[in-house]
Amino acid sequence: MKLPLIMLGALIVLSACSSSSTGRKQVMLFSESELDKMGAASFEDMKKQTPISTDKATVDFVQCVAKAVTQNVSKSVHKGDWEVVVFDSPQVNAFALPGGKIGVYTGILNVTENQDQLGAIIGHEVGHVIEHHSNERLSANKLQNMGMTAATVAVGMTEVENKGLWMAGLGVGLQYGIIMPYGRAHESEADIVGQDLMARSGFEPSASIKLWQNMAKLSKNSPAEFMSTHPSNETRIKQLTEHLPMSAKLYQKTNNPQCQKPSVISSPRS
Ligand SMILES: [Zn+2]
Repeated sequence: MKLPLIMLGALIVLSACSSSSTGRKQVMLFSESELDKMGAASFEDMKKQTPISTDKATVDFVQCVAKAVTQNVSKSVHKGDWEVVVFDSPQVNAFALPGGKIGVYTGILNVTENQDQLGAIIGHEVGHVIEHHSNERLSANKLQNMGMTAATVAVGMTEVENKGLWMAGLGVGLQYGIIMPYGRAHESEADIVGQDLMARSGFEPSASIKLWQNMAKLSKNSPAEFMSTHPSNETRIKQLTEHLPMSAKLYQKTNNPQCQKPSVISSPRS
């Protein structure tokens, strides 16, 4: 019984294998539409659980930066408009989900000094979506489950997807108590893809380096949520600096979006 299952697993892996834009081999077992549905459902959950900011100046600022970035993302990643929500919470965090969803917490706006640094955050988050990192994580979970529940698989491949697992795979499990950081390969790829994307969107690409330096300083005092889902390592700033000459060539200086960061970010109700 064991051998055919291994062969089945190998077959699935081989048939689902492709490459990311930086040339990394990827295993993706889920369809785009499945991921889009999971992303949308998770986003709806989060909107129910976390207060949404109604401060116009803050929302306008985030929308302005997000729009500048997402209009440079291929329609093959997401066809329609991206939904951007500002959560009124002191959490220093932000995320993007398959299905064209972006969430930014007011807490992170106190760390980002200007539109360019917010462009770096949104570019990085959207970079995870562009490179299908959620699909890879969910696929890894699924393959692991297949190994552990071989009997169930043998009967008919009936996989009951657990919502907690999706949320974790999508990287938004933190507030549900499941901390699932992105791995180093995903972080590194999102950094490069994000820096190029922000530059093409008219944001000064060197702001990505300043942003991570600020994050590092902040987390020395109190660990930021953003740092726990996006673990830093000593190579991150080095890699962003090394990639800068490449993204600088893509920088559309004349398209600088002119998004105004409000002088006071509305204080969260917590
Ligand atoms: Zn990340």
